Amino acid sequence: MFIFTDMKIKKLYFALVFIFISFLNLHSKPYVIIVSFDGFRWDYLNRNITPNLNEILNDGVHALSLRPSFPSKTFPNHISILTGMYPDNHGIISNNIKNIFNGKRYRIGNNKSVTEPEWYQGEFFWETAERNGIKTASYFWPGSEISDTLRSPNKVKPYEHNFPFINRIDTVVSWLKLPIQERPQFITLYFHETDSKGHDFGTESDEINEAIALVDSLAGYLFKQIQELPIKDSVNILFVSDHGMQNIDKNKIVNVEELISQYKYDLVDSGPLMQIFPNSENDKENIYAELKRNEKHFKAYLKNELPDYYHFGKHPLIAPIVLIADYEAYLVNNRISKRNYDLSAATHGYAKDHINMHGIFIANGPAFNKGMKTGTIWNIDIYPLLCELFKITPRSNIDGKIDRIRFILNNE
Ligand SMILES: [Zn+2]
Repeated sequence: MFIFTDMKIKKLYFALVFIFISFLNLHSKPYVIIVSFDGFRWDYLNRNITPNLNEILNDGVHALSLRPSFPSKTFPNHISILTGMYPDNHGIISNNIKNIFNGKRYRIGNNKSVTEPEWYQGEFFWETAERNGIKTASYFWPGSEISDTLRSPNKVKPYEHNFPFINRIDTVVSWLKLPIQERPQFITLYFHETDSKGHDFGTESDEINEAIALVDSLAGYLFKQIQELPIKDSVNILFVSDHGMQNIDKNKIVNVEELISQYKYDLVDSGPLMQIFPNSENDKENIYAELKRNEKHFKAYLKNELPDYYHFGKHPLIAPIVLIADYEAYLVNNRISKRNYDLSAATHGYAKDHINMHGIFIANGPAFNKGMKTGTIWNIDIYPLLCELFKITPRSNIDGKIDRIRFILNNE
């Protein structure tokens, strides 16, 4: 009889311990919000017009810059951030892709093509998280609209370019107020403003400075809303950007088609990167030879000759000939050339080691060190960082490495 009672007490004791641990876990659940300001160059924070971001970074981790992956374009890099892979491996090798094998095209302005799972070979963090029982949500992020629900966030907003910025933030904050069973622990948020104004008016314009100040005020608004939540002590926020921005030198514009007009080919993309699909092996040899003879303001490469440091050249959808513009130069086709080189003032897409292609990295919250300044961080390392924050196992086929970034975490 005594033994039976003793067992009962033991069981009760273990049940109470279990409930207590579960309760602790429930309340120590981490939350992570990753905010992207498209095209926010690394040094925009030094213009004395970002009081909110500067306050947030002083209380957290601030990297000198965030190194993008090549090409330093929007879709490839948002997807590198959330897959931990170079574009060569996750498959979104540019904002425009031609599938030479079936003729299909991927274009960022094409709402259907961006939802097709076949283009995405990486695993987004939200997929890894959901497999581990973590709820996720996205208020815009390139790739989030993928039509396979097993590969998309639990909550997704279809991209609406002009949707008011404040309302995006209010919705994200409302998600964080949901009952715990429905509340997402990982949320993405995206704003295009600094990219648009940078392209249109250049990196030294009043318009870009207004855009920088605007997104800074959005950062401040979001941060303040979070501080009023009951879960505020469990929320980590990352502010990142996909790439920087560089003014174009109008004396370094090259119409590639003028150089190779006698041959047959298909061109994909313009600007810092251009891909050429020659119609035949013969055309390929001739086009490549012609471009090598006229290599001014750009470099021409056969796909298998691309230098290793680009981490670009293995993916089957990369064209047989790849042109990479020199810094500040811009490659155009006949169609753009006819518009009298009516180009953007500034652009991005150049090699990832040009500092002006770099974006920002700010991390604030209980998981991060406080008042820490670091050197450049690589954007492929963010996916393993997110896995570490949630204590889940990253995919093993990634390019990112937790060992390069773990030092920013608070070990207490
Ligand atoms: Zn971008």
